[in-house]
Amino acid sequence: MTELWLGKELAKEIRAEAQGIISRSSIPPRALAILLSAGNAEAQDYTNFIVKSAEQIGLPAQVVTVDSAKALFSAIKEMAKNPQIGGILVQRPYPEDAEENQLQALLPPEKDVDGLSFENLGRLFSYQPKYMPCTAEAMLRIMKYHRLELAGKKVTIVGRSLAVGRPLWALLLAEHATITVCHTRTKNLAKEVAPAEVLCVAAGKAGIITPDMVNANMIVVDAGYNYLPDGTGPLGDCHPQVGETAAAYTPVPGGVGAVTTAVLLLHGAQAATGGK
Ligand code: NAP
Repeated sequence: MTELWLGKELAKEIRAEAQGIISRSSIPPRALAILLSAGNAEAQDYTNFIVKSAEQIGLPAQVVTVDSAKALFSAIKEMAKNPQIGGILVQRPYPEDAEENQLQALLPPEKDVDGLSFENLGRLFSYQPKYMPCTAEAMLRIMKYHRLELAGKKVTIVGRSLAVGRPLWALLLAEHATITVCHTRTKNLAKEVAPAEVLCVAAGKAGIITPDMVNANMIVVDAGYNYLPDGTGPLGDCHPQVGETAAAYTPVPGGVGAVTTAVLLLHGAQAATGGK
């Protein structure tokens, strides 16, 4: 019988922590700025949800819509100097002509609430993290919340993006896990997944992890949040039956996503106030 690892309770705890930081602050909170690329309905919906959630904990949020890399980069430069802005989140997908590396170079580390800047990733890889990428941090927090002992565990991560797979690798390495990372050049995904005691998936491909790839002893943490071209979704990177096969599974929706938003609010609150 699979244990469902829901994110709701943990998300509530993290949001309360964020709200506490704001309410204890001796200075008025500075705003969380969200940079949104024009024309993506799902990103727009998620941004609206973040703004509403931020306001509920007393964190002001403002959205700036951009339609090109040039507009994005000049907005980041302006926000970097603006003392009214505490945190900056660049929502995905980025404008088509925007290079992620340019963005990393421009984001001021102290306002970089999604932990993507060169400095914040460098800190993470040196085991001195400040702001960590929210989804990777959320995945680790879920595992710790459920008292999963990671030291010595065999972990397979599917996905190596800058936002999720790679930072998760660094986080799990710091927890002393033994890690295999898979990507599109991995020759036999099922073979790399089979020995895992813990499987973390962030591939952006609905259902690529099928029930036959997992077993009843495997913990499966699914960050996937996918919509099919006909609008069906959100769907995890795991086939729904994985939620009946593994030892534990984070359902989509209701698992990693809820915790990711809460972690973002926590980082936003810290950046807004300089608080911990
Ligand atoms: P991404 O930038 O597109 O990266 C996907 C990664 O998966 C890449 O490293 C890619 O390999 C790998 N990959 C793709 N297909 C694969 C396959 N068939 N076999 C093995 N590896 C494969 O995506 P992302 O931003 O990391 O996001 C991943 C998923 O997490 C998406 O569904 C996204 O919506 C979701 N997400 C969820 C949250 C949340 O809060 N729940 C937040 C962020 C993202 P290559 O490097 O070789 O291309």
